[in-house]
Amino acid sequence: MKNQKPKSNALCPYAKKCGGCAYLNLSYEEQVQKKKKMVADLLKPFGKVDEMITMEKPQHYRHKVHAVFSRDKGQILAGTYEKKSHKVVDVESCYIDNEKADAIIRTIKDMLPSFKIKAYDEDKDYGLLRHVMVRVGHFTGEIMVVLVLTSPILPYKNDFVKVLRKKHPEITAVVLNVNDKRTSMVLGSRNITLYGKGYIVDKILGKSFRISPTAFYQVNPVQTEKLYARAIEYAGLTGKEVVLDAYSGTGTIGIAMSDQAKEVLSVELNREAVKDAIANAKHNQVKNVRFVAADAGDFMVQMAEEKKHLDVLVMDPPRSGASEAFLNATLQLAPSRIVYVSCGPDTLARDLKVLTKGGYRLKKCTIVEMFPWTEHAEVVTLLER
Ligand code: SAH
Repeated sequence: MKNQKPKSNALCPYAKKCGGCAYLNLSYEEQVQKKKKMVADLLKPFGKVDEMITMEKPQHYRHKVHAVFSRDKGQILAGTYEKKSHKVVDVESCYIDNEKADAIIRTIKDMLPSFKIKAYDEDKDYGLLRHVMVRVGHFTGEIMVVLVLTSPILPYKNDFVKVLRKKHPEITAVVLNVNDKRTSMVLGSRNITLYGKGYIVDKILGKSFRISPTAFYQVNPVQTEKLYARAIEYAGLTGKEVVLDAYSGTGTIGIAMSDQAKEVLSVELNREAVKDAIANAKHNQVKNVRFVAADAGDFMVQMAEEKKHLDVLVMDPPRSGASEAFLNATLQLAPSRIVYVSCGPDTLARDLKVLTKGGYRLKKCTIVEMFPWTEHAEVVTLLER
């Protein structure tokens, strides 16, 4: 690991305004030490951190890139919101974004005048193009461009796609997303495919996954494989187990471990993600995973009431952690192993308190670097009864 200590904000000219990367003034080694200490302090009452899986090349790792478009005195801006404001910083290229994604966003910005497309002005609630989101498949190289417009009509859309693809032939899908509300949400609910299938496919641990514009998908593919591999290792499967993959997104973790389990149940709240998950299982010819679209807490409570058998629980809740109902039902179901994947170490510590009180012990703990230069830490833990 190179000690790339920046003295100022030399790595990123936008650092002062953007505020996306809180650790830009630290060397990568210092960031690693800081994250290790932060997680170790939080988890100290339960056990120790065994390891941190760092990133070999901690730059340009984000494979989902989003640019907000705006206008200022006739100038088009494409980039990110300034800290605590709705002013847009024009970003030429970002230190953590996938470089191809940034280049595509620049091309779109340059194309706007000749297509007479107006960038959206939030104050006046006027203009067509609000955001561009680019998702890049790391292993497949497939690229999806999502144009978020205030209207379902993009003038000269076929020419637009043609010119864009001439510059970037690696684009395999172009989707028009309609967002006509005065909202800070990036995506609206309606998607119109302008080119390709309307989604891209990427691979994790040899399995293929379809990624729709609105579904959750880990943004750092290199580290995601390491995270999932560690989660599978912790699950300790022999082929005989009943596994529950809770907060399952597009079914990635459950499908990745399905070969080693007897049966996998997968529960996720977002219906679009569940649709992707079902398609993913089918595409990978996985037959022993069942998907349920529900609140994970409600589902666990029901399982507990029906006294269902569960050997291994894999849980990967959002930053807010698991609900009390979920944790209490887990204690009733009493799986012999729990693999808790967390993107919020503070809520992980809160939930571990409940689980350890209920008879579990923290056996193993790995930090996986998913977000270099930011303060976020991803942790995977193994708990046993
Ligand atoms: N394991 C997946 C997704 C993790 S992100 C992966 O690695 O890709 C967390 C997921 O929890 C999101 O897909 C989100 O939609 C889902 N979620 C949020 N609240 C939920 C709830 N109450 N019940 C079930 N799923 C929920």
